[in-house]
Amino acid sequence: MKNKWIKAKAYFSHLTLKKAVNFLLLYLSFVLSRAIKKPVLWGYPTTLSIEPTTSCNLRCPECPSGLRNFSRPTGMLSESLYEKVISETKDYLTYLHLYFQGEPFLHPKFTDLVSLANQSGIFTSTSTNAHYLSEQNIKKTLDSGLKQLIISMDGITQEVYESYRVGGKLSKVQEGLGRLLQIRKEKKLLYPRVVLQFLVTGKNEHQIPELKDWAKKMGVDELQLKSTQIYNFENGSDLIPSEPQYSRYVPDGKGKWKLKKEIENKCWRMWQGAVITWDGRVVPCCFDKDGSHEMGKIGENNLEKIWKNKKYQTFRNQLLENRKQIEICKNCTE
Ligand code: SF4
Repeated sequence: MKNKWIKAKAYFSHLTLKKAVNFLLLYLSFVLSRAIKKPVLWGYPTTLSIEPTTSCNLRCPECPSGLRNFSRPTGMLSESLYEKVISETKDYLTYLHLYFQGEPFLHPKFTDLVSLANQSGIFTSTSTNAHYLSEQNIKKTLDSGLKQLIISMDGITQEVYESYRVGGKLSKVQEGLGRLLQIRKEKKLLYPRVVLQFLVTGKNEHQIPELKDWAKKMGVDELQLKSTQIYNFENGSDLIPSEPQYSRYVPDGKGKWKLKKEIENKCWRMWQGAVITWDGRVVPCCFDKDGSHEMGKIGENNLEKIWKNKKYQTFRNQLLENRKQIEICKNCTE
């Protein structure tokens, strides 16, 4: 069976009538908002990203966790805050990504966090740099009920891999991935589905054929070739791939670079879900890495209230009016 069907099976097995109706309401209110150019919001978030930690073992050049240049505080998600969010959202949440910034496996209770969401009937996913896939961690992950594990690996030789994943060890990633697939097979389990994610840059695009062969040989469930967001793309960067299909940017004909996709005054993500940082800040999406648009804080208010508060609605209104007035939205392909 194809990976997308196996994933869909897990997703739909967690779906309830209440969740489906909520999703429909969100979608209808999004369509209506676009038509009348005013934010109407029915329903509650159907997806969430929750950040287990901002700590990271690597130093990737386009990532604030790696560069240690957050202005927001860094730390670990507390179990009490997490339990509060899960108990408030479990009736309408269809997808939980336990990741935002940082390396989730550095959270000492990471697999317990997954288990709680899984037992609450929520489809769970995470992203990792795969430096902590020891036999013990793999067994705990398999037991947790995690449905999808996205492994970032952006090179097929150590030299190319570490040119972006600074401080990373490719052999560790490859061994961990192989070990996980082997143990999952021995236990005759289907989940977590293993997605190998390769951020395509100008420095690694020549390795794609070799990567495809390796992924096939290993038996990964899915290979995703993802375009990379570059912070200061206007003047070009050696991280921009030469192959246009893997690039978010194109030359503008005047010596500068621009986004390939025309920006439209819409964003489904603002109706679909939110991101919660380790200390409970609710931010609009994963592009707001430093939490510049904090909509509210869990603990001071519950998510349902924050989701529909004035600040959030003003943000949605700005998107519908003119998305370019919001800095983070100028470099977004959504
Ligand atoms: S950056 Fe703006 S347009 Fe992109 S997902 Fe976030 S809110 Fe939406």
